[in-house]
Amino acid sequence: MGDEKIINTNNVCTTPPNDETYKSPNFFYYSPLRDFICSYLSDAKVLDIDRAFVLADRAHDGQKRASGEPYIIHPVAVATIIAQMHLDAESIIAALLHDVVEDTFITIEDIKQNFGPTVEDIVSGVTKLDKLKFHNYLEAQTENFRKMILAMTKDIRVVLIKLADRTHNMRTLGSLRPDKRRRIAKETLEIYAPIANRLGISDIKIELEELGLAALYPMRYRVLKAAVNKARNNRKEIVNNIKEAIEQRLKEVHIEARVLGREKRIYSIYQKMVKKELQFREIMDMYAFRVILADVDTCYRVLGQMHNLFKPRPDGFKDYIAIPKMNGYQSLHTSLVGPHGAPIEIQIRTEFMDQMAARGVAAHWSYKEKGSEPTSTAAQKNAQRWIKNIIDLQQSAGSSIEFIEDVKTDLFPDSIFVFTPDGKICNLPAGSTPVDFAYTLHTDIGQHCVGAMVNHRMYPLSRPLESGQSVEIITSSNAEPSAFWLSSVVTSKARSKIRQYLKGLKTQECVLIGKRLLQNSLKGLRIDKIPQERLNAVLKEFKKPDLDSLLIDIAIGNILTVIVAKKLSNDEENNLEGAPITGTSGLPYTFAQCCLPIPGDDIIGHITPGKGLVIHNTHCNNIADEHIDDATKFLPVYWDYSNTANMDFETGIRIELKNRQGILSEISNAVDVTGSKIEGINSDIKDDNTYIINLTITVRDRIHLASIIKRIKTIPNILKISRRK
Ligand code: MN
Repeated sequence: MGDEKIINTNNVCTTPPNDETYKSPNFFYYSPLRDFICSYLSDAKVLDIDRAFVLADRAHDGQKRASGEPYIIHPVAVATIIAQMHLDAESIIAALLHDVVEDTFITIEDIKQNFGPTVEDIVSGVTKLDKLKFHNYLEAQTENFRKMILAMTKDIRVVLIKLADRTHNMRTLGSLRPDKRRRIAKETLEIYAPIANRLGISDIKIELEELGLAALYPMRYRVLKAAVNKARNNRKEIVNNIKEAIEQRLKEVHIEARVLGREKRIYSIYQKMVKKELQFREIMDMYAFRVILADVDTCYRVLGQMHNLFKPRPDGFKDYIAIPKMNGYQSLHTSLVGPHGAPIEIQIRTEFMDQMAARGVAAHWSYKEKGSEPTSTAAQKNAQRWIKNIIDLQQSAGSSIEFIEDVKTDLFPDSIFVFTPDGKICNLPAGSTPVDFAYTLHTDIGQHCVGAMVNHRMYPLSRPLESGQSVEIITSSNAEPSAFWLSSVVTSKARSKIRQYLKGLKTQECVLIGKRLLQNSLKGLRIDKIPQERLNAVLKEFKKPDLDSLLIDIAIGNILTVIVAKKLSNDEENNLEGAPITGTSGLPYTFAQCCLPIPGDDIIGHITPGKGLVIHNTHCNNIADEHIDDATKFLPVYWDYSNTANMDFETGIRIELKNRQGILSEISNAVDVTGSKIEGINSDIKDDNTYIINLTITVRDRIHLASIIKRIKTIPNILKISRRK
């Protein structure tokens, strides 16, 4: 399997590569792939793929694989596997570029500009999957983890590239440390081989299993392999005799067929030995064949002939043509008793079914011939039809509804999967917010939830979650559900619990809660000490007849408490210092993406319609034109350092540099050793050799940021570095 197919292709491309492609010192790695894709893609597409190669080659320039070889061999190998599935040009381009966003200067915007939004989507999908680290989470949940991978994928080509990526990494596993090798092998066997199986791509499934077993249990693999080779020699004669008998019979009844002797895979022998406690001998005693035919009718005729040639075993027959397997696999299987009692297994199927068995869902992106390239939408439709066909077949075969639901959520996700802090995977409907998540964990957690941390960062309670995120809910014992939540929650549990709570509130309780909330915000100032005049003015402003109705609106969340508090306290005396920004306070707010304030900055809260309270740097250009003392628009806020000390905040820096090899990795090292993380990166070219790098990094505060900037400044070729505003 694998590369041989391409190397043996005698196809020579008639579209010459342009100079840029041809002159790459790595062109010879790419050239066999290029010849191969010329056999089924148009000239224009081949030239697009050339551009992707040139970009990937430049981007990875200087990088090496663990084996010491130039990095470009990896994306080329992944693209080769994708081409062997006969996928479209966009898939091949995305395969060539699948690692550039993570590891190089190239940004996802660059990819969009050069190759369009589809390639962009596929590459960013693969990048997102790469960020999931299986070993961090509970291994007992592998099934959910597999589902999550599929749920994160809006385009099945993302999964196909991920599988191809994994296949090449497994082929080259030898150059890694043994512990790393084992971890990757385990993940491959538990996650990726089953996904390949689920999508019906048995070529990849088999290769992943064989390589996985060899890496995880090298000794067992070697022993089994030696035993299989030995048994194979002993069996040769019997295999040939049976094969000839089958061929002879088919000739007599004038049926044209390909008859293949099948060798058992080491992994499947191993599985059988482990699961069924069979002896190696018992497994190897089986003689397996495959008969491949032109059409379905002939399959059933051949079945009859085989049952006539050898004695069928009772219960030894399975009709996967009428009732395909879960992944769409179709074939007739029968077990027979051969000469001298030798057990025989025969698979009978059409050429088309055989192709489908090898390539599964990938077969639906295939191009039958040059010049008839379907668009990617057409391909997507094909794949959807494939899924639908399976569902229809399962339905007509009367198999379980659960399965149908399963396949649907797997491939066309209307659910998302997120992690709890202790690594459990939680399944929610798409669009669920942290509040939905909180109520799913426990009603009490929902009722007392005040904030959420997603991937260890503050996250608005109303923003929908995405698959793969890790979510932590912050609760406070005196917090209560807010009516605001009703507009964003999607689960019926959250909705009904919040409604129930709000309905259950008697007017008097609402007044009490409102009073408590307001009193909290007023700090030292007591509500009954507020001058009547000032109170009346505020009531008038909020169009409320009396204090109680104002308090009710505060309780059910129609009015932001801090605003009322600010207005009720005496502005001129300025005795209210503002709302504390603790990172985890009950006050719902977000940080402005323009200025990305961090502890130590002077900050101000801006009340943005639809977004709530947004915290800006006081000097942010975006608020420069507005009047900070307009109390309906701005709220004074301050950092609560006792709470922010252990938290990370995102901020941006801009670096101007003269390019040279390795400079980016030195910058990322500098960020790393100062205990910061790079959250985002993009680059721009200023002139010939001057680049501008924009980094989004995590910092604790201004002091931390200063130490990072200082560190980066010491790197040779850095021209300028500043905070981004
Ligand atoms: Mn890769």
